[in-house]
Amino acid sequence: MIYLDNNATTAIDPAVVDVITKVLSAGPANASSQHAVGRTAHGIIESAMQTIAKVLDTDFSLPGGPRLIFTSGGTESNNLALGGIGDPTQPLVVSRIEHPSVLAVAQAQELALAQQSAGRSVRWLDANSDGVVCVDELQAKIGSGSDQASLVSLMSANNETGVIQSIDTAAEVCRSVGVPLHIDATQSIGKLAFGLSNIGASAVTFTAHKFHGAAGVGALWLDGGVTLNPLLRGGEQQLASRPGTEPVALIAGMAKALRIAETTLDESAHHTSKLRNHLENELCDRFSDIVVHGKLAKRLPGTSCLSFPGTDRQSMLMALDLSGIACSSGSACSSGSSPPSHVLLAMGISERLVESALRFGVSRFSTEQEIDLAIDRISNVYRRLRSK
Ligand code: PLP
Repeated sequence: MIYLDNNATTAIDPAVVDVITKVLSAGPANASSQHAVGRTAHGIIESAMQTIAKVLDTDFSLPGGPRLIFTSGGTESNNLALGGIGDPTQPLVVSRIEHPSVLAVAQAQELALAQQSAGRSVRWLDANSDGVVCVDELQAKIGSGSDQASLVSLMSANNETGVIQSIDTAAEVCRSVGVPLHIDATQSIGKLAFGLSNIGASAVTFTAHKFHGAAGVGALWLDGGVTLNPLLRGGEQQLASRPGTEPVALIAGMAKALRIAETTLDESAHHTSKLRNHLENELCDRFSDIVVHGKLAKRLPGTSCLSFPGTDRQSMLMALDLSGIACSSGSACSSGSSPPSHVLLAMGISERLVESALRFGVSRFSTEQEIDLAIDRISNVYRRLRSK
């Protein structure tokens, strides 16, 4: 199988497997236990935090400074940020192209308000036809006085198109009016240079399985002074911000994966953009009607979102699967049946193109030979399906 679904999840790096296996094989590891075994587990987490702090340019040693909450992944971190930061009765600002783990929370909060239970109004930021969120609308959407939003949440790069968003501008606006900004950096951290100390955000989400770590572990970084209301109750772990026994081995693995991502960052970006460009250019040369979404914007190096007019995405996906290519359709980070992309619809792309859109994602483990084979197989499938 040629795996081109790296925005959904990535292959775990063997060096990360080694770290995880070593911790798991060493014996029980509950970091809250008050004995030597517990202290060892606690030490592993501390050491992982130091690595993460170094790679992401932050510091967890300062009293009242930034802190890191380990979670089960991007979905939980996003839920925690949207449910736990800022006055929950004041408006929320999010874009229309966020990941479902942000969109669904915003929609639920909006619905709760409409049903007059606890909730908040949501102000939606549009995206342009290149897939870039219109942050020039941000100041107006935040509002002022008693009507001011209490949280803004934006992704740093879109999971479907790979389009990189104007996070710096958003951070400047949020800082100038004193409103917290949460960034969903799930698709960027591990792929782009990302320094947390200067980013101007109050909270940042990331998850290990997008950068060759294991699924099931992620984190929410919080700037100093940010108050977080926990979603979960029932324990004192992580200062009660996220109770529950920490997955020590997965956390150690995430730190290792992040460290490897840092050391291979430039090389990976060069490699994945070269392969992605080759895939796009070759397919567009062979078929003049193929559309590359977000092509004019700055994109993640390995992501390609393509429409194959005259086909439907589910048939293409299944035919490609049968021919040994793994890619993705629709808005979910899965290859299963999914609704048409809300991201492409928000970009004003025609239904015909949305219905024929597929996402390909290459990683540093993808090879040139794989991409050459993929180009031929995609071409064959497209030729066959569009003539039907
Ligand atoms: N946010 C974005 C932008 C994503 O691409 C994903 C991926 O699925 C998530 C959040 C959710 O992350 P996780 O699968 O770790 O829950």
